[in-house]
Amino acid sequence: MSPVFDLQFQARLNWLSEKTFLVGRGYSLASSAISEGKLPVTAVRIKQILQTSQLPGRSRLNQLFPGDSAIIEFSSPSVFPQAGVYESAPFVVLDSQSNESLGEGVIEFVLRRSTNIRWQNLTINKQARAFAKQQQPCCIWFTGLSGAGKSTIANLLEKKLYDSGCHTYLLDGDNLRHGLNRDLGFTEADRIENIRRVAEVAKLMVDAGLIVIASFISPFKADRQLARALFESDEFIEVFVDTPLVECERRDVKGLYAKARRGELKNFTGIDSGYEPPENPELCVQTTVQTPEQCVEQLVQYLVTQNILLQKIVE
Ligand code: ADP
Repeated sequence: MSPVFDLQFQARLNWLSEKTFLVGRGYSLASSAISEGKLPVTAVRIKQILQTSQLPGRSRLNQLFPGDSAIIEFSSPSVFPQAGVYESAPFVVLDSQSNESLGEGVIEFVLRRSTNIRWQNLTINKQARAFAKQQQPCCIWFTGLSGAGKSTIANLLEKKLYDSGCHTYLLDGDNLRHGLNRDLGFTEADRIENIRRVAEVAKLMVDAGLIVIASFISPFKADRQLARALFESDEFIEVFVDTPLVECERRDVKGLYAKARRGELKNFTGIDSGYEPPENPELCVQTTVQTPEQCVEQLVQYLVTQNILLQKIVE
């Protein structure tokens, strides 16, 4: 299947909510001009700040605060409208989870780059590459607090799959921050961009026919949802490594909790930055009662029931 191409448009936005507006975060856009109902959107960039109620000097990179007014470039995985359909359409921005109204604005125009770039259909596609590897490509996405056990379990799982002849790749949060994501920190905006890039890389690797194992704290529900939205419904397997904060802090594998408690590390998940547990993950493993090997066995059995792995190859 070739992906539906993004619709991109420029809009004026007045941000009214106490919640910070973030580039990369998923929102819903409601407008009487949009016949499809609500449009899922993410902001690609803040092009220009028109008005602000903030004191000078407040860091605002990729963010808007209440009372701000700005020109925004939005992107939506939507079908293309007839030319001009959305132009001058007023809209309301809603929280994609709660539907709470957050801001309002007017669409200025559809960006030409979104109509000029087309998806190239290549002769050797995902199905062909998957067939050559004799496997069902997918993305197994581990989420959980630092020290929960994501890397340990992901690593063991990859070894098990590799030994069974599967073609795999493990994307690890810390490792990617040394290269592709080395320009990103740990603010909410940077974490969103971190997950967006990783999810896009995972998608390319699934397209290459691999079983991709992604191990990232990925603390925010909305961002995991955006990652999931890049894949076919049966391709994304969210695994919640459910380890209580007290246990992660007791383990403190990298000494980071102690640092965060001393105030030497800002925006640390679980301490001064939130973690939103998944509500409906495909799988949940509990490392306080299961050994890493038992967690991997639970995962492998799940992959067998989903026809991603054949029982006989993992025995
Ligand atoms: P994360 O990748 O989530 O930050 P790590 O895998 O790096 O976490 O660290 C988890 C630590 O917890 C490791 O030292 C690991 O040995 C330990 N641990 C204890 N029990 C388990 C378990 N059942 N599953 C995974 N890790 C466990």
